[in-house]
Amino acid sequence: MKITVADNSGVCFGVRRAFSLLEEAVENAKKSGIKVSMLGPLIHNPRVIAQYAEKGVKVIDTGSITENSCVVIRSHGITKEERAQLDRFSGITLVDTTCPYVQRIHQLVEKRSSEGFAVLIMGDREHSEVRGITSKISGDFFVIHPSEFDSKSKELASFTADHAKIFAVAQTTSRPANYEYLLKKVRKTVAAMPGHRFLAAETICTATLKRQDSAGELAKKTDSMVVVGGKNSSNTSKLFQVVSEKNSNSFWVESPEDFTVSDIETLKRSGSVGITAGASTPDEQIAEMRSFLESLNG
Ligand code: SF4
Repeated sequence: MKITVADNSGVCFGVRRAFSLLEEAVENAKKSGIKVSMLGPLIHNPRVIAQYAEKGVKVIDTGSITENSCVVIRSHGITKEERAQLDRFSGITLVDTTCPYVQRIHQLVEKRSSEGFAVLIMGDREHSEVRGITSKISGDFFVIHPSEFDSKSKELASFTADHAKIFAVAQTTSRPANYEYLLKKVRKTVAAMPGHRFLAAETICTATLKRQDSAGELAKKTDSMVVVGGKNSSNTSKLFQVVSEKNSNSFWVESPEDFTVSDIETLKRSGSVGITAGASTPDEQIAEMRSFLESLNG
C-alpha cells in the first residue's frame, strides 16, 4: 500500500497561532499560580481539548469565569455578548486567539452594517464562528447554509427584495463553489431591482482553499482516502465532502480506533491510500494515522 499525505494537510496558521498563545498563557500562569481556562473549545478537535483538560485547562462558559484567572478566547471568536460578560471582570487575564481571518469578517460586517447594508452570511448558524459574526451586525441579516439553498430559496428571495443594500460574506471554511453559486443567484435577483446594491467579500480563508484543492487532487489519484480530524470541525467536514465526491472509498475518523472492520478491509485492499487532515489536526495525529496504515501493510 502506497501512503501519501496531501500537501497542505493539518494545522493551519490560525490554529498554530492559537496553540502558541495558549502554551504561552499556560507557562505564564504556572509562574503566577493562576488557573487557565478556555472560553469554548480552543479548536474543534476533541482529542486535543481532552489533552489540555488533563493538564488542567478546562473548557468553560461565561457563567463559570472566576476573577484572578486567565481566560483564553477560542480561535473561532466569541459573540459581542460574551465579550461584554468578560469585560465585567476586572481581574482576569484575557488571551484572544481569534483567528485574524475571522476578526477580518467581524470588522467587515460591523462596518457594512453600520453603513446600512443588510448582511447575507453563508455558513452554519449554529457554529461559533457564525454566531460571533452575526453578533457584530447592527442591522438585519440572513444566514443560509448550502444545504438550504433549495429549502430556503423563498426566504432568500424575500431578504434580497426587502433590502436595497446587501453585503455578503461566507464562513471561513466554506466551499468556494457554494459561495460562487449563492453570489451568482443573488446578483441575478439584484440586477432586476433598480436602485439595489449588492457587495460581496472574499472571506473563505486561504488555508481552507489550499487544503480542499490538495485533498481533492490526491483523492482522484488514490484508491482510498482518509480524512483525520474532529467530527465537530467545520473545515474537516468540508474536506471530507470534497474527497468523498472524488473517491468513493473515503473515511473520516478522529483516530485509527474509529475504523470499522469493513473500513480496514477496504484499506487493506487499496494499493494506494491518501491522508488529509483538517486545519485543527496536529502533526502527531497525522503521523499516528500514517503509522497505523503502514501497519496494515503487514
Ligand atoms: S481554518 Fe482559516 S480561519 Fe480557521 S483558524 Fe485556520 S486559518 Fe483561521
